Amino acid sequence: MGNIRSTMMTTPLLVPAMLERAGRIFPTGAVVSRLADRSLHRTTYRDVYRRAKALAEGLQSLGLRRGDRVGTLMWNHYAHLEAYFGIPMAGGVLHTLNLRLAPADIAYIVNHAKDRFLIVDDVLLPLLAKFRGEVKLDRVIVVGIGKEPVPAGDIAYEDFLAKASGELAPLVADENEPVSMCYTSGTTGRPKGVVYSHRAIVLHTLATALVDGTGIGHRDTAMPVVPMFHVNAWGIPFTATMIGSNLVMPGPFLDAESLLDLLDRERVTFTAGVPTLWLGVVQKLKEFPNRWTFAPNLRIISGGAAAPESMYRDLESFGVRCFQGWGMTETTPVGSTTLIKRSMPEADVSGDARYQVLTKQGLPLPFIDIRIVNDTGEAPWDGVATGELQLRGPWVAAGYHDNQEGDDKWTADGWFATGDVATVDAEGYIQITDRAKDLIKSGGEWISSVALEGALMDHPAVKEAAVIAIAHPKWQERPLAAVVLKPGATATPTDLNEHLRPRFATWSLPDAYVFIAEIPKTSVGKFQKTKLREMYKDWDWDKAGPRVV
Ligand code: AMP
Repeated sequence: MGNIRSTMMTTPLLVPAMLERAGRIFPTGAVVSRLADRSLHRTTYRDVYRRAKALAEGLQSLGLRRGDRVGTLMWNHYAHLEAYFGIPMAGGVLHTLNLRLAPADIAYIVNHAKDRFLIVDDVLLPLLAKFRGEVKLDRVIVVGIGKEPVPAGDIAYEDFLAKASGELAPLVADENEPVSMCYTSGTTGRPKGVVYSHRAIVLHTLATALVDGTGIGHRDTAMPVVPMFHVNAWGIPFTATMIGSNLVMPGPFLDAESLLDLLDRERVTFTAGVPTLWLGVVQKLKEFPNRWTFAPNLRIISGGAAAPESMYRDLESFGVRCFQGWGMTETTPVGSTTLIKRSMPEADVSGDARYQVLTKQGLPLPFIDIRIVNDTGEAPWDGVATGELQLRGPWVAAGYHDNQEGDDKWTADGWFATGDVATVDAEGYIQITDRAKDLIKSGGEWISSVALEGALMDHPAVKEAAVIAIAHPKWQERPLAAVVLKPGATATPTDLNEHLRPRFATWSLPDAYVFIAEIPKTSVGKFQKTKLREMYKDWDWDKAGPRVV
């Protein structure tokens, strides 16, 4: 670099600095957690900071070495927050385990990651018991959010913290060292591990905290409903701590009514979770329109899957703004959020223009490069050309943990191929059309299952709808819609296709409908299309009767 050098410090970007700041500058900031008996546990950043250091000291006294993995099998609450910071402070790697997976899958993930220690909620001990014989853990630490006894040989979390002297050497590390890891939900094949560096988490935290990212600020009361075992709860525990906002953690209860009670009672101003949650919330609000009141500036980030337009409209009719975030385990996870540009004033006010923007997946965060690639190469940003969404950036994974088989998700020129099919419009808004594997190929044309699902869920009688491809002798594949009707509501396949007709070409309307009690969901609440495909794999078009259209 010629004869000039930067004169700046090269202070590493390290995760523990976030809690250190909150503990010192916002010591009275509230951290509220719902426990297993539904009581509310209240603490502050001062205590979370002190206790996270005590946890780090305890882990070191058990012999934790730099880079050792510490698994967590926990709901969202204060002790999980302490683990989010205490494990990194000890020089360990936080490994959040998805408690909704089958025990055999959790065992596979614990073994693959080589977790040495585990911190587990007492109420989840029965789950641990189902796979404990298949994994090798040096020690298990049990957190009492219920009133379950600690098994012989395991360590009680509170006793463990009480033993700490309060002296902990600050972490000295390179910002590129691992700090946490998470496995993909593994809808196809074995789950794969993504290992986040301090640098990736810190930069992701800064970017998502931007007013134009998720906009969480110090005066917010943030409630991550998205589980802390699902891609860092979209980074909210980090963002809220870094910025010193109050935190509300829902613990084991995630039904609409319990969430509405917390939103109201704790005057939550920011919350985030998958669309199925917010669809449930809308339904409850319609049932009991006067039961809950909200903080005037409450806003929701919906993400993890596409949501129907009616969800945004309905939430706004109850005074709640809802925006979207898109992301993946491999992107830490947030890659884009919906921000309404100042050049689109018509989208600021309620109406079609607004919902056209809100139902898109948003603008890439700063430092996230995007491109759309199809058979003809890189596609233009015209809102029409579809192709695979590819990304690169400082919080995008460059590979999987200990991945013997290798993977084709990274291109030769260094981009991450998401497997999402998307368009990008001239304004830069990403719109996900489908997962590549969920698109329906009919007579050489592609049909978007996501678009049909969104439109079906806008029908007043429909609670949930998922559309899958069914093999077809003539057209290769044709769409089948699995629909859950609202309690007491009725709609026929013809009614539903009439509702879709103004928005879709006739050839893309579903040929068949099945009305079922529930759409199967993944461990993180998304529609589980693999399961649906399995359910209808023997579909016989001859026996299914005439086409609906
Ligand atoms: P996961 O890694 O389990 O979080 O899943 C990532 C996938 O979820 C992405 O590749 C998308 O297909 C989907 N996804 C996430 N956010 C959204 C969103 N806002 N809209 C549509 N699909 C989404």
